[in-house]
Amino acid sequence: MDNLQGLNKNGNASKMLIAGPCSAESPEQLLETARILQQCGSVDYFRAGLWKPRTSPDSFQGVGETGLDWLETVRKETGMKVATEIACEKHVAVALKHNIDLLWLGARTVSNPFVVQDIADALRGTDIPVLVKNPLNPDIELWYGAINRLIKAGVKEVGAIHRGFSVWGTHMYRNQPIWRIPAELMERMPGITVVCDPSHIAGKSILVPLVAERALENGTGGLMVEVHPDPPSAMSDASQQLTPAAFISMMKELDLDRKGYCKNAPDQIDELSSEMDMVDELLVHAIASRMELSRKIASMGPAGSPKPSAAGKSAAGERLADLASGDGLRPGFISRLFGEIARESGKPKYSLNSGFKNRI
Ligand code: PEP
Ligand code: MN
Repeated sequence: MDNLQGLNKNGNASKMLIAGPCSAESPEQLLETARILQQCGSVDYFRAGLWKPRTSPDSFQGVGETGLDWLETVRKETGMKVATEIACEKHVAVALKHNIDLLWLGARTVSNPFVVQDIADALRGTDIPVLVKNPLNPDIELWYGAINRLIKAGVKEVGAIHRGFSVWGTHMYRNQPIWRIPAELMERMPGITVVCDPSHIAGKSILVPLVAERALENGTGGLMVEVHPDPPSAMSDASQQLTPAAFISMMKELDLDRKGYCKNAPDQIDELSSEMDMVDELLVHAIASRMELSRKIASMGPAGSPKPSAAGKSAAGERLADLASGDGLRPGFISRLFGEIARESGKPKYSLNSGFKNRI
């Protein structure tokens, strides 16, 4: 497939552009969106999810197989190539039957190697291009493994989609981009096109252009963007979808030919400092939870009372000292830190503000 091939050159060739609604909702919604996107001229694939991996069984699960006919109509009416997500062998079989032009595996599917293998087997011997989203958790091996399962099954055109990672805590983005992970994937697999999905990273339409711009600066192979004719009424991912007009104005602003690669220093520094902020937050929450446990045990009376020198000479203390030196930390520092925590646990509780309390 020329687009994937053309994009396999460290972001120097033209970028692959995939756009369309999160979910197919009706034939009219698909055609209305596709007609506008087709007029843009630069969209390579029209996307729409038919089987939606949703957290709650009560939310919209997607229109399913019926939507394959609608996608075929989009292709017939607009001439655009069409793409959808597949999450099991059965989806692959019906999507192939309807001559869908490109498939992608979603973040939840990629987390399950058994399902990925079933999909790879179902794709054996076909020449449909397949993109693999990163898994929800920041684990490059799962992503790399899923891509390799498809390559080993003989899928000829395999690419990747960077859609950000779900990490604990409150953040500006719905999913943290952690740019060094797609950068590492590009380094490990220089022949693979990595496309960025700024919609699922941002989580809010207003942030989508910022993420898209950063992705291009970082040498992404293309973009997959969610576009809906009326985002507030969308049946899934309403807050992150762009109107066609917002998509067009974003595309006018973005310099799609920008060259680059994921390794420039300021980007790494930004990334590392935001990770450090995250670790600091985790430390504060971990210390608060540790103190809460220690206070609970102390309130159970003398039998349950923890020894104040828990990190000193006790077995638990020795275990922590071993852990510390294994991690390259001086055991004396860890012992002092735990001594401080133990002393602080004996003091009256500081009254927490409600925002903080809610997050513990
Ligand atoms: C989607 O593309 O609409 C989707 C469900 O994405 P993800 O698998 O990245 O959550
Ligand atoms: Mn979506």
